[in-house]
Amino acid sequence: LDYSSAKGWHDGRIIPYEPISLDPASKVFHYGQAIFEGLKAYITVDGEALLFRPDRNFARLNHSAERLCIPAIDEQQALEALKQLVEVDRAWIPTEAGTSLYIRPFIIATEADLGVDESTEYKFIIIMSPSGSYYAEGINPVKIMVEKKYVRAVVGGTGEAKTSGNYASSLISSKEAHEQGYSQTLWLDGKENKYVEEVGSMNIFFKINGTVVTPELTGSILPGITRDSMIQVLKHKNIPIEERHIAIDEVIDAHTNGTLEEVFGTGTAAVISPVGRLLWEGEELVINNEEIGDVSQLLYDTLTGIQSGKINDDFNWTIR
Ligand code: PMP
Repeated sequence: LDYSSAKGWHDGRIIPYEPISLDPASKVFHYGQAIFEGLKAYITVDGEALLFRPDRNFARLNHSAERLCIPAIDEQQALEALKQLVEVDRAWIPTEAGTSLYIRPFIIATEADLGVDESTEYKFIIIMSPSGSYYAEGINPVKIMVEKKYVRAVVGGTGEAKTSGNYASSLISSKEAHEQGYSQTLWLDGKENKYVEEVGSMNIFFKINGTVVTPELTGSILPGITRDSMIQVLKHKNIPIEERHIAIDEVIDAHTNGTLEEVFGTGTAAVISPVGRLLWEGEELVINNEEIGDVSQLLYDTLTGIQSGKINDDFNWTIR
């Protein structure tokens, strides 16, 4: 789909995957006016293609668009287009358990002009690719590093938008985490460097003394669709869940006094990823003996059960 200020969004089409050509002065190359989404199509146990809450992804795309001065898309039209696209690529969706078709919608500013102001032209593209499980470790616990040196986002910044710049500024932290043997970074807030925010590509949850706690959405955290879904599942199962500020010190203290029972991340790619080790100021905390906790397992089973059509979708999240 293309956008120009004269025509609005126009010329929607499905074409074979191929390189696109852009003017070297396209604004996206210089000023980062780019937003994206990530979601998946699954093949159910009955052999049907299924999308998980795609409406939420297009709503979030529009939210990101607003922050980046990009014209809004028609969410309903985008959803219809996506359904057609999945139909066209149906044969490419892998069927083994845990696999899926990864879907990447994105919008870039294509006006050829070096002025620092919003573009008058855009492209909205959806690409797709078969995918296995995200972490090499599979559902086994991952190791994450608490970041002290860099910040990902501040309130009023672009942290809650899914824009390329957030990921560009995070690269150095991921690189340093990898060098030390950790798979991702756990970000703290950008103001006091004290409150837990989220992980590189997932939202974070802690089970402390029977209660699940996740950082509240302050404006600098990506409002994860899996996060929202899992909060609803926890409420449905009557497991205590709190969305609130949580200081890294509270996590460390809970570990010290033995009440930190589980840590896990949620995300489209990460699904439910238990955290087995947390590096904080040079010290490594081992969580739940590096085993998958009960709540992580329950959420994993519920989420993958709904996505594979094995269990009933009581929440009305799936579209076939
Ligand atoms: N935080 C960040 C920074 C992410 O990139 C992602 C992945 N989109 C998430 C959280 C999880 O969001 P979702 O559950 O919508 O995939």
